[in-house]
Amino acid sequence: MMDILQLKDKNVVVMGVANERSIAWGIAKKLFEVGANVIFTYRKERSKGKIEKMLADYTDYKSAVVECDVNSDDSIAQAFEQIGTQFGAIHGIVHSVAFAHADDLKNRFHETSREGYAFAQDTSAYSLVAVSKAAKPYLADGASIVTMSYLGAERVLDGYNVMGVAKAALEAAMRYLAADLGAENIRVNAISAGAIRTLAAKGVPSFNQILRQIEEKAPLKRNTNQEEVADMTIVMLSHLSRGVTGETIYIDSGYNIMG
Ligand code: NAD
Repeated sequence: MMDILQLKDKNVVVMGVANERSIAWGIAKKLFEVGANVIFTYRKERSKGKIEKMLADYTDYKSAVVECDVNSDDSIAQAFEQIGTQFGAIHGIVHSVAFAHADDLKNRFHETSREGYAFAQDTSAYSLVAVSKAAKPYLADGASIVTMSYLGAERVLDGYNVMGVAKAALEAAMRYLAADLGAENIRVNAISAGAIRTLAAKGVPSFNQILRQIEEKAPLKRNTNQEEVADMTIVMLSHLSRGVTGETIYIDSGYNIMG
């Protein structure tokens, strides 16, 4: 069959696999299926162990596991130097990383601390800029960067607070990066995923209520899942989306269109 995705033997960095439920893991599995090489980055040793265990079922595929703490410029620089040296060109990056202090999600928004605000921004929004900068020397012609956002970037959602502000910054950073890197044929887009039960989602206090609301209100009358987000991410990484950059694409059963 014609290779319409053109991801075979391409090198894609997947950041943010913590366990099987991670959105990034769903994407990595699909990348293996379409023949890409997957370079995983992790922050905690615990995640490294988990990723290596999960990879036991994927020994026929080319992969690597590299440490990268997005709060540290040194760690990011080291990670991308290592990846660049080992793999040569980078054809895709999946940025699926976010973090905020639990208190800043639980408390009322006006109580957000200066430190908590800066930390959420640093980890969840600036990290996309920092990663693009460190990866730039290795990014191939036609490379695609995809980040994970959420509807809380543009609407006030209960319990999302400081993370909503960080996602707004992330989406704006995505657009500025798209404008900046477009001349070099590097694309940058965001996926705005519907609510999915993951480790990160555990930090959002009203998560169950959010899931119920989506089932009731979304055009498709159901929640979206890891695989659906992964499929669209594959499209955004692939040749099929070569004319698209600077966009936020909703994979949310249509929930965002409803009043
Ligand atoms: P997850 O907890 O599985 O993934 C979050 C990842 O971020 C983890 O692997 C964690 O290790 C990593 N991370 C946090 N701080 C880091 C740091 N300093 N350096 C490196 N890595 C760090 O949860 P997920 O739901 O798969 O989240 C992935 C992305 O998807 C996040 O950006 C999240 O905001 C976004 N998202 C999630 C949902 C949802 O409902 N689950 C919806 C929309 C968007």
